[in-house]
Amino acid sequence: AKQKSRGTISLYQPEMDQQIRDRRVLHQDLSNAIKNGELSLAFQPQGIARHSVAESDIIGFEALARWQHPVRGQVSPADFIPIAEESGLIVEMGEWILRQACREAASWPKPLQVAVNLSPAQFMHGDVVGLVHSILLETGLSPGRLELEITEGVLIEDFDRGLALLRRLKALGVRISMDDFGSGYSSLSYLQAFPFDKIKIDRAFIINLGRNPQSAAIVRAVIDLGHGLDMSIVAEGVETIDQLAFLAREGCDGVQGYLLGKPLPIGKYADLVGRAETM
Ligand code: C2E
Ligand code: CA
Ligand code: CA
Ligand code: CA
Repeated sequence: AKQKSRGTISLYQPEMDQQIRDRRVLHQDLSNAIKNGELSLAFQPQGIARHSVAESDIIGFEALARWQHPVRGQVSPADFIPIAEESGLIVEMGEWILRQACREAASWPKPLQVAVNLSPAQFMHGDVVGLVHSILLETGLSPGRLELEITEGVLIEDFDRGLALLRRLKALGVRISMDDFGSGYSSLSYLQAFPFDKIKIDRAFIINLGRNPQSAAIVRAVIDLGHGLDMSIVAEGVETIDQLAFLAREGCDGVQGYLLGKPLPIGKYADLVGRAETM
């Protein structure tokens, strides 16, 4: 109905009403998900880029949100994070995710890294510095073990505020990575202006390694660029041994992807975090 009143009838499709209803229902359900215990975290290993999987030692994990809907089953974060963002639910949810991830990592016998995604709304509208600070104190996680992943989209909105926030977060001792590098309106000026510790090269470039020479050239260039700026480089979505070998050869620092391990409940990685496997 809104579409009609705005005069965009040509874009109207019957499925849109369904989609809007769908989102509304999902939003309702999502607002109960935390208290119903339907949210959880999966952890995906990050390793050092070496020529074989066996040599690519695991140095940390990225925490990824999972929602087990009572009727629909697993809902992808690609679907529910945007809904949480638009509705403001992300503030509460993001706090839960950060606390959960830090608590988990603080309990590991090995002092591995944990990376947590911060969404734009969380970053720009909440008191993200206060939150990170209090959760570090509360969980006892050493700040040097926490890495916050943000996308450049976050910073486009308000450059000055973004820069101030990054500096204050870094002053807490946590590390900041630029997620999905190359996927959006990546601008080299962001790399110059913002004090990132790490660049995560978007999976799209890694998929195409070996398929087209342009991707290889871009990946090579990003590695050089990042190193020139004193940042470390992690490749996302590494699925094959050929991709790993290429990245190791080109001097990429880290790798993440199905080749090293899928995102799974941390219990599946008990041995990697140094916990005796349960009998
Ligand atoms: P992302 O931060 O870029 O996370 C990496 C995504 O790539 C994850 O999807 C992961 O499962 C997937 N992936 C990792 N390795 C491979 C691979 O080798 N091949 C393929 N095909 N995929 C791989 P996931 O878990 O579905 O998350 C999707 C996106 O949802 C994330 O992208 C992130 O933007 C968002 N997200 C997930 N969890 C959170 C969260 O806790 N907070 C926020 N704000 N966003 C989150
Ligand atoms: Ca990420
Ligand atoms: Ca990413
Ligand atoms: Ca992504």
